[in-house]
Order: sequence, then structure tokens, then C-alpha cells
Amino acid sequence: MSDPTIISADFLVIGSGIAGLTAARKLSQHGKTILISKSHLRESATQYAQGGIAAALQKDDAPKHHFDDTINAGDGLCNEEAVKILVEEGPERVRELIELGAKFDTKDGELDFTKEAAHGKRRILHAGDATGREIEKALGSAILNEGLVSLIPNTMITQLIIQNGQCIGCHAIQNQMPVTYIAKATILATGGCGQLYSHNTNPPIATGDGITLAYQAGATVQDMEFTQFHPTTLYLGDKKPISIFLISEAVRGEGALLRNIHGERFMPTYHPDAELAPRDIVARAIFSEMQKTNAQHVYLDLSQLKLDIQTRFPTIYKRCLEAKIDITRDFIPVAPAAHYFMGGIQTDLWGQTTIPRLFAGGEVACLGVHGANRLASNSLLDGLVFGHRLAIKASQSTAIKNLNSIIKQQKPNTIDAETHSGILSFKQALRDRMWQYAAIVRDKMGLETLLNFIQKNKDILSVQTLQPEIIEVQNMLIVSELIAKSALERTESRGSHYRLDYPQKNDTTRQYHHRMTKPK
Ligand SMILES: Cc1cc2nc3c(=O)[nH]c(=O)nc-3n(C[C@H](O)[C@H](O)[C@H](O)COP(=O)(O)OP(=O)(O)OC[C@H]3O[C@@H](n4cnc5c(N)ncnc54)[C@H](O)[C@@H]3O)c2cc1C
Repeated sequence: MSDPTIISADFLVIGSGIAGLTAARKLSQHGKTILISKSHLRESATQYAQGGIAAALQKDDAPKHHFDDTINAGDGLCNEEAVKILVEEGPERVRELIELGAKFDTKDGELDFTKEAAHGKRRILHAGDATGREIEKALGSAILNEGLVSLIPNTMITQLIIQNGQCIGCHAIQNQMPVTYIAKATILATGGCGQLYSHNTNPPIATGDGITLAYQAGATVQDMEFTQFHPTTLYLGDKKPISIFLISEAVRGEGALLRNIHGERFMPTYHPDAELAPRDIVARAIFSEMQKTNAQHVYLDLSQLKLDIQTRFPTIYKRCLEAKIDITRDFIPVAPAAHYFMGGIQTDLWGQTTIPRLFAGGEVACLGVHGANRLASNSLLDGLVFGHRLAIKASQSTAIKNLNSIIKQQKPNTIDAETHSGILSFKQALRDRMWQYAAIVRDKMGLETLLNFIQKNKDILSVQTLQPEIIEVQNMLIVSELIAKSALERTESRGSHYRLDYPQKNDTTRQYHHRMTKPK
């Protein structure tokens, strides 16, 4: 094995979604900035975001209303200071995005706002039903035009380097070769971990790498029990792909109704806001209806929508048609799936983690802005607002003094075929168990069964390799364990975390955030 390369920069941004692109663009004004992405640069959850981005920009709206809706959805666990920043700084950040060239839909020359579940106002800006793609395009083009960020795709970060208690960079794998990056600030913008669940809407990159990297390096993680399950993903029976296609909340926002397999509408019996109740409530109602009717799905009925469905939801229309469902006529079979992670690496309001020189932003970070349940379309806004703020803070990082020599990654490229296939089959078994025991409803027995399974398979962590797909499974094991432990610890039901054995909310734990740091 040849010696690994060492590359230096001022700022290292890991992840090319909305948080990473925002941070990298702003940091590049202050020094040499490198942006690294595990796959090609466009591949991120951001790219697949459909519904839109929320901001109080309408005449009859105000940040105060957006604040109230976010706090209500968060079910008593939101960090109110963080929410205030989100809703007050959000409009300015979205205007910047429009100035950069993001084209949101308009009506009669004005921005067209749609409504989504648990929003009291129409405040969601959208670009058809492919809003994330439009945002990635605008940010990506600006970065390319400005030419100040070095873009490094197809490179997986495998370990953060900590010296004297500070993060000074990371180890990576690029073209199967070890590479080391050194910087005065490292920013994790690695997105979520939906791939931990066998039913999920996330792209394959979403394996929780950032959480594992930070936790293994000694950073604190928090609120790991809170995974959001999207109520409506396209149900295709046994033809289930690795990521399941999402039917955006905006479809219900425009008036679509949920019906059980007998064609009966059920949401009004679960919540006064019916189909527009918060996500956790709709997801659980669907789950309960599926159990009652012994079915694998319910239906979404668009027949009463007063708009041109093909124009407003072109991506959904096309994808459903491929599955021989004409949404202008047919009910869409839908079921819940893991979608978003409210937990993550603990940060302050400026993206600073508990390790000096290490920052986190976007879905991988947790500063409590979404509480126990994220309000629809607040996630893109989170990446934009806090990606901007962390860039301000990270740009002030001073040069590293007294850098010790770097211990290089010395791992073999390959492992034997039997170990390799054993680890990949463990991955599927883990995802199935996460869905069975740590998903929409949980209880002590299920979570303990899951933890035993994880414990029994922990020897996979000792496998030394530079193969990204194996390292991903190791990361998934670590994040799954953190989720199961946190879910076991929270003996109440709140937001997206529902315990069958503790179905009530316990108000003494209202502002309780479960935090974990790796024992030294
Ligand atoms: C189908 C779908 C629809 C959605 N719709 C909406 C919506 O309408 N509105 C809304 O607000 N939110 C929506 N969300 C949620 C939202 O898209 C995400 O939360 C948000 O885009 C996350 O942005 P991010 O920058 O944090 O991470 P991502 O966009 O996921 O980007 C993560 C980046 O990190 C890189 N990465 C990961 N691990 C490593 C590693 N080890 N080494 C190097 N690079 C790594 C990846 O390659 C990728 O570039 C949706 C999500 C999905 C999946």
C-alpha cells in the first residue's frame, strides 16, 4: 500500500446537500474551501425534496405564526431560541436563494405559496414537486460560476482526526485509496440515516455516517429516539426498492383524502385537522388503520383536487404512471416509511459541536429546532439558515498551532468474500429489525430484542477495510444502537416517538433531551 496523500485547506465541508452547499459557498469567501461528497455531487436527500421550503413571506403571514406552528408540531421539545432564528432569518435566506436563481412557482406574477400539514398559513414555496432539485441547481451553479470551492465527489469520509481535543481534519477513501484532509474547521453536512430502516424515502447515501463519525470522535449526540415517518409513500407490494417514492405532503395540503382499503375516510376520527394533522399523528393513524383492516397500505384519493394535477405534481404523476396508477383517476396505494431524523450531533445555535473546530449543519445536526416532530418543509429551511450561521462561526477559526504528525489509515482494501457477504446480509437483517422494533410504534421488549441482535453482531466493527459499503454497515450498526438505547430510555410517547407500553406524554420530561457521548 502506498503512502496516503495529505491535503490541506482552511475549511472542509463534508456533504453536497443544501447545508453543505450553503456553508461551502459562504466559507469560500474566507479561505481555501474543499467540499467532499460520498457519491456524485447531486446525490443527496436535498435533490429529492418535493414539497417545498417554508418561509413566512406571504402578506398575511409572519415569523410569529411560523414559530407557533413549528413549536406545536415539535410537541414540547423544540429549542425555542433555535426556532425563533429559523423563522426570523428564514425569509432573508430564501430571498438570497431566489436572487441566486432558484425559480419557485408563481401565480399572476407573484410567488405561489402552498399549504402543508400543521401549517396554519399557505407558506410553502415550491418548484413544481421537485423543489430540492431546483435549490441544488441554484446553489450548485453559483458555486461553479464563482469557482472558489474545490469539489471532490465519490470520496467517503471514514474517520475524524482529533488532536489535543480538537478536530483537525479527517481520513477518507477516494478511488479505493486512503486520503487525509487537514483543515482549521471541519463541517459535517452528511444528511440523515433513513437507510437504517427497510421502509424509507431516503437516497442510498443516508446511512448515518456523520453521526457515527462525530460520536466515535467523542462528540455528543442527542434526541436519537426521534425518527420521523412520512405518512404517504407509494406502496408497490413486493416490488419494494431500496428507497421508496414519496407522495408529498403538499398533495394532502391541496385537499387529497386518505381512505382505508374499504374506501372509507378515517382521519377525522383521529384528529380534528384530519389529513392536515402533524405527520406523526397521520403516520400512526395510517398504521393503525392498516392493522385494523389487515392491509399493507391505505389509499390517497385526489379526486376532489381543484387544480391541474399533471402540472402541479408532474414528478408524482409520472412516477405513479410508471407503476400503472393514473393519479388523475385512480386512488394511490400509500404506506408510511422512515423519512427524516430529528436527532443527531448536538450543536449550539452556530453549528458548533462539543468538539472544537468541528461543526455540523442540516439533517445530521441536532440543536432541537424540530423538537420531537419536524414541521413539513422546515428541513430545507434548517439547512439554509443554520448552514449560513455555521459558516459565519467556522470562518473565524484560527490556524492550528503545533500540529502533531498524522497517524495514517492503514487498512486493507479488500476483505474475504465470506466476511463481505456476511456483513451485507447483516445489513438487511438490521434494517428489517429497525423497521420491526424501532419504527412507528415501539415497546421495551422489541427494543431489547433489537439491542440484543446488535450486541451479538458487534464483531463486524472489528473488520478493518477501506471498502465503503462495509464501513457504511458499521456506521449503521452504531447509529441503530444509539437509536434503540435512546428509545428505550424515553419512557413516554412524544412526537414521533410512540411507546406502546408508555402511551402517554410525561410532562416532567417536557424539555428533556437524551444526550450520549462515547465513554472514553
Ligand atoms: C424524498 C424526500 C423528500 C423530501 N421533501 C422535503 C421537502 O419538500 N421539504 C423539506 O424541507 N424537506 C424535505 N425532505 C427532507 C430534506 O430533503 C432533507 O432533510 C435535507 O435535504 C437534508 O439536507 P442536508 O444538506 O442536511 O443533507 P443531504 O441533502 O442528504 O446531503 C448529504 C450529503 O452528505 C454526503 N455524505 C454522507 N455521508 C458521507 C460521508 N461519509 N463522506 C462524504 N460525504 C458524505 C452525501 O453524499 C450528500 O452529499 C425530503 C427528504 C426526502 C428523502
